[in-house]
Amino acid sequence: MGTTRSRERADYGPGQAAARAGMSLGEWRRAVRSGLVRSADVDGARWSAAVVERARSSRASIRTQLQVLAAPEYRWGQAPAHLLTRAQLAETGPDRPVPLRPGGPIRGVVHFRRGRDRLYLYDVREAVPKRAPTKAQTAAAERRKLAARTCTGCGKVAGDRNDLSRTKRLCPACVAAFWTKKFADDKQAAAAWAREVLDDPATVFLDSETTDLSGFLVEISVTDRHGAVLLDSLIDPRAEIEPGAQAVHGIGAADLVGAPTYAELAERLWAVLRGRRVIIYNVAFDTAVLRREVLRAAAELGPEPREAEDRYWAPLERSARWECAMAWYAQWYGEWDHYHRDYTWQRLGGGHRALGDCRATRERLVEMAASLAPAAPAELGQPVLAGLDA
Ligand SMILES: [Zn+2]
Repeated sequence: MGTTRSRERADYGPGQAAARAGMSLGEWRRAVRSGLVRSADVDGARWSAAVVERARSSRASIRTQLQVLAAPEYRWGQAPAHLLTRAQLAETGPDRPVPLRPGGPIRGVVHFRRGRDRLYLYDVREAVPKRAPTKAQTAAAERRKLAARTCTGCGKVAGDRNDLSRTKRLCPACVAAFWTKKFADDKQAAAAWAREVLDDPATVFLDSETTDLSGFLVEISVTDRHGAVLLDSLIDPRAEIEPGAQAVHGIGAADLVGAPTYAELAERLWAVLRGRRVIIYNVAFDTAVLRREVLRAAAELGPEPREAEDRYWAPLERSARWECAMAWYAQWYGEWDHYHRDYTWQRLGGGHRALGDCRATRERLVEMAASLAPAAPAELGQPVLAGLDA
């Protein structure tokens, strides 16, 4: 079967192949000699149906390439005066009253941009008058112009294409409607997130106070989703408290006498976080502090920093789900920042003590969830049931 098929597939001689490819025998032979068409067998005189079909569908390009191969090459400005580019032929002047187009093959190739680009040259004596566009072409051009100033939102035609937005081509009214809908949808999504978090028994809220913006813990609190305390402790940071940070949270060295260190508190802390959905106002800040504490504790045990990251921090990070209430609250609040193309973060207003901030975060979610449009009756089941486990 295999041999029969391959013999069938390479069964065209040159005459038949050229005819089937829509070329003259001369063109076919030159295309083969130039490597533009590959023969299928060793003596180079038979072609498969697939090769012939490919040549047929690209015969215009093969013809152009054959003309280019046969044409002399010039550098820019050095071609004879009677050889012109397509654009030059279309120009009119005292000696050429009507625009022309090529009437014969490519007669030269001119290279420019140091050989990186080229244009084809045609003999002006072979050129013919450029045809006026057909009715269909004119109509198509008109349709394109009309489409360019038609709003894709409402279909109204603007006076000028520049009256529409550039990428989506919307009129000002549709642009305004787009933003109104986006803000409303985003607010609803944030409210739905808050509702779902508050209904999820796995939810806890966490907040921490630190020695400085890239420092260590001085206080950490975790509450359950109802605001009940799971952990609330000052922490001896074993580091200086930066005055600016102390001014914010009001916790000084004197307050921390006798407080446990992170290492002493770690077991209790991770016991309330493991397997939980941890909601934090600015999650990146608090997880960065936790990571710093874990790596500092690990360094005292000896391993290389890289190894400590994988061995100690990564498993802890994976042991809980971390979610940022600040990003969702910004989206719900809806103060759009055009420059950053995102919602502006809002202050928590929690008083900058860990427990107060945990509860303030929870309050923000309650506020968000309260704005949620009432769900359709069919969707009510789960949240209602989930709320009963309190
Ligand atoms: Zn519109």
